[in-house]
Amino acid sequence: MTKSAELVRRCELAKPADGGCAWCAKPRPKGRRMWCGGRCATAFWKNHWWSRARRAAKRRDKYACVRCGGGRPLEVNHIAPCLGAHGVVSCAHHLVNLETLCVPCHRTYTYASSR
Ligand SMILES: [Zn+2]
Ligand SMILES: [Zn+2]
Ligand SMILES: [Zn+2]
Repeated sequence: MTKSAELVRRCELAKPADGGCAWCAKPRPKGRRMWCGGRCATAFWKNHWWSRARRAAKRRDKYACVRCGGGRPLEVNHIAPCLGAHGVVSCAHHLVNLETLCVPCHRTYTYASSR
C-alpha cells in the first residue's frame, strides 16, 4: 500500500470506498489506482502536500493576510501545529488548518507553530 493510500484511510476529508475513488468514493475508471479523476487527485494533494497546500491557501485567501489584510511577502501558517510535517504527506496540511499571514502577523501569531 502506498503512503497516500494509508493516509487517506485515516483522513477525515476523504471517503474511501473499496474499489472506488479514494477521495470521493465514486466508481474508478479502469486503470486508475487511487482516484476517479484528476480533480480528486488534485483535491488530495492540495490538502496533504505542503507546497501544493501552501499555494492553494494563498489563492483561497486572495493573496492577503487574513488578520490585517496586508500583502506580500506572505507566509502560510498551520493553525494547529504541523510538528515538522512540512516534508511529508500529512493531514496537518488540510486547507482548513492553514491561514495566510503577512510576515509581521506570522511572527505575532506563530506561538503555536514554528512556520
Ligand atoms: Zn473521486
Ligand atoms: Zn498581517
Ligand atoms: Zn487528510
